[in-house]
Amino acid sequence: MSETSPITTEQLRQWDKRHVWHPFTQMQEWERDEQIIIVKGEGCWLIDTDGKRYLDGVASMWTNVHGHCRRELNDALKEQVDRLEHSTLLGLASEQSIILAARLAEITPPGLDRFFYSDNGSTAMEVAVKMAYQYQVHKGRPERSRFITFRNAYHGDTLGAVSVGGIGIYHTTFKPLMFETLQAPSPYCYRCELGCSRDSCNMECVKALEELMEHNLGQVAGLVIEPLVQGAGGMIVQPAGFLKSIRDLCDRYGILMIADEVATGFGRTGEMFACNHEFVVPDIMAISKGIAAGYLPLAATVTGDNVYSAFLGPYSELKTFFHGHTFTGNPLACAVALRSLQLFKQDNLLAELQPKIAWLKTRLDYFMSMSHVGDVRQCGLAAGIELVEDKETGTPYPWEDRVGIRVCLEARKRGVFSRPLGNTIVIFPPLAISNSELEMLLNVLQESIRVVTE
Ligand SMILES: *Cc1c(COP(=O)(O)O)cnc(C)c1O
Repeated sequence: MSETSPITTEQLRQWDKRHVWHPFTQMQEWERDEQIIIVKGEGCWLIDTDGKRYLDGVASMWTNVHGHCRRELNDALKEQVDRLEHSTLLGLASEQSIILAARLAEITPPGLDRFFYSDNGSTAMEVAVKMAYQYQVHKGRPERSRFITFRNAYHGDTLGAVSVGGIGIYHTTFKPLMFETLQAPSPYCYRCELGCSRDSCNMECVKALEELMEHNLGQVAGLVIEPLVQGAGGMIVQPAGFLKSIRDLCDRYGILMIADEVATGFGRTGEMFACNHEFVVPDIMAISKGIAAGYLPLAATVTGDNVYSAFLGPYSELKTFFHGHTFTGNPLACAVALRSLQLFKQDNLLAELQPKIAWLKTRLDYFMSMSHVGDVRQCGLAAGIELVEDKETGTPYPWEDRVGIRVCLEARKRGVFSRPLGNTIVIFPPLAISNSELEMLLNVLQESIRVVTE
């Protein structure tokens, strides 16, 4: 192969199948089918080797904010790479990570102004879990070693993050490797495990959670929650007031509240952070996906002085938080993240988002009238459309039928890339999506659902 001639699509396809093991993918099927290879991005569009364009309906796995190859972000990255590409935070400070932490402290919930950087959502959650437990140890309560989690929760794929997760199909295999948690009911109103219905339930699930706390008095270090919406569990939206009730319970039982804002952070719910909707300040918060606008891997575990100061002391007391990742606080990622925060202001992004969120709500009503749509759930510019075999009874399609995947394959033919969560179709576009692009996304998904289910 010569250095100058471009590599053909056919060659790329062969090498991909020969060498690249894709995440969450049955490779036997992947190797059998013809795959799309993306080479360019423009705004909300991804462009493949044949020049075919796909609307990025899931914001490149929930990360993209301002669109692809946004000039300001590209420039920030180029400027930074000519100054410093990377330098460690172990033993040295670095400019961009400092400025970013100071800027983030202005927008995170009040009091959350201590930033522990890492590279992805899973690491941010591992850090949160270890930090919460070590905090209890330093406070003289080592017996507070358990964590309360929710069914249908997703916090990442490393072992600590898997332990606090609650999605059977991803997590069951690894059970022997996981630590045990106390699982509370999922606030999944469409399929309430307590048999309640949303309008008249008085949040029985919160009462069940309180019983769990009561039964395990003095043994719980922290509670882990995805605020407002359980994302990977199927875009399961919590009833209003749920998050606030949990904050109150954590206070009452001396449990650290850990909010996983990895998916919800940076405007997705219509506020900068989901916790803001209910004026909740968690004790520890994990942020990642949207932080660097979908450009580079970056994450932070954020806390306040209460937790932070518990780790202070002479070295000999070994109160140090012995945890760290090599690429912590990478300057390229931080520079893009900083420019992204400016774009939020410059583009008036959160204000511009409100009419889109309102329009999405109205548009989603049409889906409810379809014969195989069981439930539609929306939180800001994120939504899930749950497809069912029988609408009357809510009987799900057998998972082996992979109705969600088939709908997304139809959407792909019509120029939209989407990725379902089981039989729930996901809407999670870049926040910068235009009105007409959003309309196209919804039209294509509706047509694709019709083709597959009717
Ligand atoms: C995606 C996600 C994670 C894991 O993030 P990775 O960067 O994939 O490790 C954790 N929590 C939530 C809520 C997520 O949506």
